[in-house]
Order: sequence, then C-alpha cells, then structure tokens
Amino acid sequence: MSVLVTGGAGFIGSVVVDQLRVRGERVVVLDDLSRGHRDQLDADVPLYQAPVGDAATVRRIIDEHSVDTCIHFAGLIAVGESVKNPGLYWRRNVGESIILFETLADADVENVVFSSSAAVYGDPIELPIREDHPRKPTSPYGNTKMVMELVLEDLSAASPLRAVSLRYFNAAGATDRRRERHDPETHLIPLALRAAANGTPMKIFGTDYPTPDGTAIRDYIHVSDLGAAHLLAIEYLRCGEPTTAVNLGVGHGASVREVIATAESVTGIQINVEEMPRRAGDPAELVAAADTARMVLGWTPEITALADIIASAWHWEQRP
Ligand code: UDP
Repeated sequence: MSVLVTGGAGFIGSVVVDQLRVRGERVVVLDDLSRGHRDQLDADVPLYQAPVGDAATVRRIIDEHSVDTCIHFAGLIAVGESVKNPGLYWRRNVGESIILFETLADADVENVVFSSSAAVYGDPIELPIREDHPRKPTSPYGNTKMVMELVLEDLSAASPLRAVSLRYFNAAGATDRRRERHDPETHLIPLALRAAANGTPMKIFGTDYPTPDGTAIRDYIHVSDLGAAHLLAIEYLRCGEPTTAVNLGVGHGASVREVIATAESVTGIQINVEEMPRRAGDPAELVAAADTARMVLGWTPEITALADIIASAWHWEQRP
C-alpha cells in the first residue's frame, strides 16, 4: 500500500513526505512543479509530473502503486492572488481537485487527507474559532477550500471514501531538510526574515484593524507539527473513522507587529517597515480552538513559541 501525496514538492508536502518515509510508509508524489521544486524531494521518491486533474495519470498511479490513501496538498495558496485572479483559483483548486477526488472514489481509495484552511471561516464571529463556526470565506481562495470540503462531505455520503479536512492556520518555520520557498513569496515570516537579511523595508498590510496594535493577528504553527497531524489523520482514517474537519493551529495568535518584533529579536537586526493599506480578503484575526486536533487525532504541537518557529526558519537562511 502507498500514500499518494499531491503537491509533495511544495513546502508542507515535502515535510510530510519526509515524515511518512521516516515512519516506513511507501510514498508516491503527484506534482506539476508549477509551484513546487524537484529538489525538495529525495531522488528515490517516485514523482509523476502532471496536474491533479489528469485522471488517467491519477488512475495509473493508484494501480501501479496500490494507493490506499491520498494527501491532497496541491493547490494555489495566496489570498491576494486569488482576489486578482479568481478563475485560476476555481479551475486549479476546485475543477482539478474534483477530478482527483472522483478518480480516487472510483478506484476505491478510501482515505483522503485534504489541505483546507482557516480561510474557510472568513471574519470570525467568535474567537478562538471552533470547527463548528460558520463557513463564510472572504476570499476566492477561502471559497475554493470551503467548496472542496463540501465535495468531500458529499462524496463520503455516497461512497466508501472518507476524508479529514485539515484547516491550517499559518504554517511557518522550517525543518532540518525543508524550508518555505514560494515564488513570489507573499508570507509574512519569510518576508520579515528577507527584510532582516537584506535591509530592504517590508510592508505591513493594514494598521487599522480592531486589534490591540492595529495589525492583523494570526495563529502560527510550526510546519513539523502541522506535518505530524497528517500522519495522525491517516491513522484515524485507516481505523475506519468518519469524515471530519479539524483545525490545525496552536491556539494563540500574534499580530504582524509582534511577528516583526520577534523576528528582530531572533535575528538581532532592526527591520524597516512601510505601513500600507489592508490587503484585500484578509480577516482581522484568525486564532484556532485547537482541542479537536488533540482529542480526535491525539495531536500535540511541540514547537509553540513564536521565537522558536521564526528561529527555525532563520537558521536555514543563515546556512552557507
Ligand atoms: N502581511 C503583511 N506583510 C507582508 C505579508 C503579510 O503585513 O508582507 C500580513 C497579512 O496581511 C496577514 C498576515 O501578515 O495579515 C499573515 O499573512 P500571510 O500571507 O503570511 O498568511 P495568510 O494569513 O494570508 O495565510
């Protein structure tokens, strides 16, 4: 039996491929390398370079590798880009993902772990956000994640397929082997570290949010803790447990200014900032209620201090 990892050449995907292999799982990766990097994967990991909407290739992988489980990471992830180019997000994150999930269901692959997002909640009406909070996304990106959760719920009702939708809060940090490398980079922590490294100013998007310092608050979770939850989700599904959705966050938040201040203390370098208007589609505050992941998956994050998360990324940047 093998685990099919779509988007395995991306940041979180490559961390989870490493973790699966350490645990002795057989892994096969499907990635079109439009955003991922071949060198994020060890050379002996089988890689099929194709879109997830290529049903014939998906079917071939399932048959050739006896796939019993799929972790679906592949997708576009930038809120701002989704606001500018919603058609692209619907086509890639929804159109292609539906083809993937239908192909899995047709081939009797029963276990699916789906990379969802806190963006499904939109502007929270209650904090911290529990999984039963209404889904009302404020961006095309969030809409595509919500729709795919609904598709999985419907497929689960009609077939043996069951799914865990993992609603990521803000993945950050690096492992010894993998780091965040988006092109273009849009995420706060890598941009703050880049600003520290090269002295150029970084932008703060929005200083008039209804938060204590006026900047937006997010729940930052270390990528290795995030990855560990995927392995637990697979165990949950292989025990025959039902379709569900689980938040992945540490349960406390940090503002953009707090992230920048922590990056300054980790690096010992003062970061120059430019205050900008809000970025379209960004909610003021997203902080997870993290107890479902603990209770349902048995998950406990290990690296919860923001300084440790940022330091893991900074140490990577400092390598010769
Ligand atoms: N952000 C910022 N400057 C940047 C990048 C991000 O102020 O150069 C803010 C962004 O508006 C959001 C927070 O930092 O409030 C986290 O953004 P990121 O893109 O890292 O993750 P997201 O929450 O959008 O998934």
